[in-house]
Amino acid sequence: MLLTPGPTPVPEFVRTAMADLTLHHRTPEFETIFANTRNLLLELLDMPECVMIASSGTGAMEACVTNLTHSKALTINAGKFGERFGKICDAHNIEYTELKYEWNTPASIEDVISTIKADDKIDAIFIQVCESAGGLRHPVEQIAWEVKNINPNIMIVADGITAVGVEKIDTTNIDALITGSQKALMLPPGLSMIGFSEEAILKIQKKPAGYYFNLLSEIKKQKQNTTAYTAATTLIIGLGAILEKIKEDGFNHLYYRTAVRADATRKALESIGLGIYPKTPANAMTTIYTEDSNALRKLLKEKYNVNIAGGQDHLKGKIFRINHMGLVEDFEAAWVVNAIEKAMADLGLREFDGTANKIFMENYFA
Ligand SMILES: *Cc1c(COP(=O)(O)O)cnc(C)c1O
Repeated sequence: MLLTPGPTPVPEFVRTAMADLTLHHRTPEFETIFANTRNLLLELLDMPECVMIASSGTGAMEACVTNLTHSKALTINAGKFGERFGKICDAHNIEYTELKYEWNTPASIEDVISTIKADDKIDAIFIQVCESAGGLRHPVEQIAWEVKNINPNIMIVADGITAVGVEKIDTTNIDALITGSQKALMLPPGLSMIGFSEEAILKIQKKPAGYYFNLLSEIKKQKQNTTAYTAATTLIIGLGAILEKIKEDGFNHLYYRTAVRADATRKALESIGLGIYPKTPANAMTTIYTEDSNALRKLLKEKYNVNIAGGQDHLKGKIFRINHMGLVEDFEAAWVVNAIEKAMADLGLREFDGTANKIFMENYFA
């Protein structure tokens, strides 16, 4: 049972949709498929424009940094992925300021405000909606609102790779919203997507940057239902299939089920004495802080057939993360909390009495 917060399992109907013969990307047949996927993606992102790029999520992060920063970036680093925005700036010699937080601590709105007020060179802010390193939800919408009130020309770039398809994101003040194929969208890795505001498009037009990751040439082509370079045809077909299915049930239905699953999981694990790591948990995953993380994960994998993620860097062996993204089955979500309680009993940490499963069920089917 694969319950890591990315990659997530690819549903069978998506695998089937992607199993057909490879289409040529410059054909009316593929353009029809592209247009259909593109419209669904625009709806999911709730933004006026979007692109799909053949790259992992980091490619989209890089494209946004290089095309939307004209003078100086502000990056929010509360984990591996926030840190990555700074590394991308370094790689391109783009000047930036970084606000650094412990991995369980959301960015402070006051810090962002005082930083942009003190430095009028900053013209773009880069932040995760959910920082996957600790399962942390940043107050992106509030930050975006406050920043736009001070200076509407500052671009707000939100990395929503573990948030798009998890929850409804208010994109009113967001200029670029990034996502990727292998997390909440349950596809194989290799496709990244970006939603844009009208203001972002105007800024990209002023000074497009790069060659492959040139967002101006990509936007121009994708408006015509084609791509600047060879499209990731198979993944675009898969994306169309998954988005059609999500839309059929209703986007809000998916957000609601994910929220209920996340809430029931947190309550179940707290009821057996485990502590939630982030101060503001995202619904994409549940992150537990425990010194027994490695031993628990080993038992989960070998005895209970559950694959969950650990931590990185200073959180190695200190946390574990359970995925809630995508179409997780009820029985899978229930099985995990039960297996964790069993594994805790195996380690002599706590006697098994079925509390986790009971609390999960009570909250999940409330
Ligand atoms: C997974 C992830 C990424 C992108 O990683 P890739 O390996 O390049 O797909 C970026 N940001 C967040 C928050 C992620 O969870």
